[in-house]
Amino acid sequence: NAPEYIRAIMPYLPGKPVSELAREMGIAEGSIVKLASNENPLGMSACARDAITGVLSEVARYPDGNAFALKAAICSKFGVRAEQLVIGNGSNDILELAARAFMAPGCAAVFSQHAFAVYPLATNAVGAKCIEVPARDFGHDLDAMAAAITPETRIVFVANPNNPTGTFLSGEQLEAFLGNVPRDVLVVLDEAYTEYLAPEQSYDALGWLARFPNLLISRTFSKAYGLAGLRVGYAIAHPEVADLMNRVRQPFNVSSIALAAAEAALGDDEFLAQSAEVNRRGMMQITGALSELGLEWIPSSGNFVAFRAGDAAAVNLGLLKRGVIVRPIAGYGMPEWLRVSIGLSEENTRFIEALRQILA
Ligand code: PMP
Repeated sequence: NAPEYIRAIMPYLPGKPVSELAREMGIAEGSIVKLASNENPLGMSACARDAITGVLSEVARYPDGNAFALKAAICSKFGVRAEQLVIGNGSNDILELAARAFMAPGCAAVFSQHAFAVYPLATNAVGAKCIEVPARDFGHDLDAMAAAITPETRIVFVANPNNPTGTFLSGEQLEAFLGNVPRDVLVVLDEAYTEYLAPEQSYDALGWLARFPNLLISRTFSKAYGLAGLRVGYAIAHPEVADLMNRVRQPFNVSSIALAAAEAALGDDEFLAQSAEVNRRGMMQITGALSELGLEWIPSSGNFVAFRAGDAAAVNLGLLKRGVIVRPIAGYGMPEWLRVSIGLSEENTRFIEALRQILA
């Protein structure tokens, strides 16, 4: 007897595990290159690894439900206060907590076409309505999004950079948009890939919080910090927003191992810089090759790039047969496109060579 709005939800389809794919394709598991989920090809920082080992003796105890140490580390790194923070089981949890705290049946959320799949998922799960706004050049059309806000709208989701297209909005564009959104509508600014932005792209979203109490900044340890499997994300928002989200949060939503690893990873600026540099070089390698192959691709500010493969299903199968996993994005309204995550140089070469063979 689940409500109709639950029955209507389209399930999120995660990629197949590498082991299963290896078996299916008859390829050795070790020779498979996975460039499908925008993970960090360097793995995690050594500091995080040490922290995980250090906390193993404590796992018989519940984690700190208030994430005191991780919050303190975030506060000192970004100059925010603990009461502005929500710690999530991945930033997916943050998106869902925002939906649960601020929406119910009868409410609506606005987001862009080609936006992250969890926005409709989190919205539908609370029985609220999705208002999808046509994209402009594969990115957010912020004017159209502001115009699409209805009296029922409680949340606007904006990803910067956007996944799966990698498009980027400047600080000026975002700030102007915030000025156009009513104060009783929460703007969830999803910055899952913010650590990959070039220095000249940076903007001071935290500085906007004082003027825009309806702004929520969502970030994750899954991408540049290399901790996707541990599931840690966080929100920085007005204390009242954070308080409401913390009320609907499960008391122990993040494990002690994940908390310790995230705290340690946050302090490893060298690893973060190295991750960004590997990404910058890999992005040039992959986009250069895509251009050489005569393929259209969307300039990306993330750790992935979407390219027009034409018969994307056939190209994807060809890549799989050659042991390379990328992400088809038909589900994002881009049936001719594939998204490839930036890997290590040799992984990128495997992808490029496989693609070259398929298109030959
Ligand atoms: N937002 C965006 C735009 C993403 O691409 C992702 C990961 N695919 C997430 C949020 C969620 O990541 P996580 O739950 O691992 O933090």
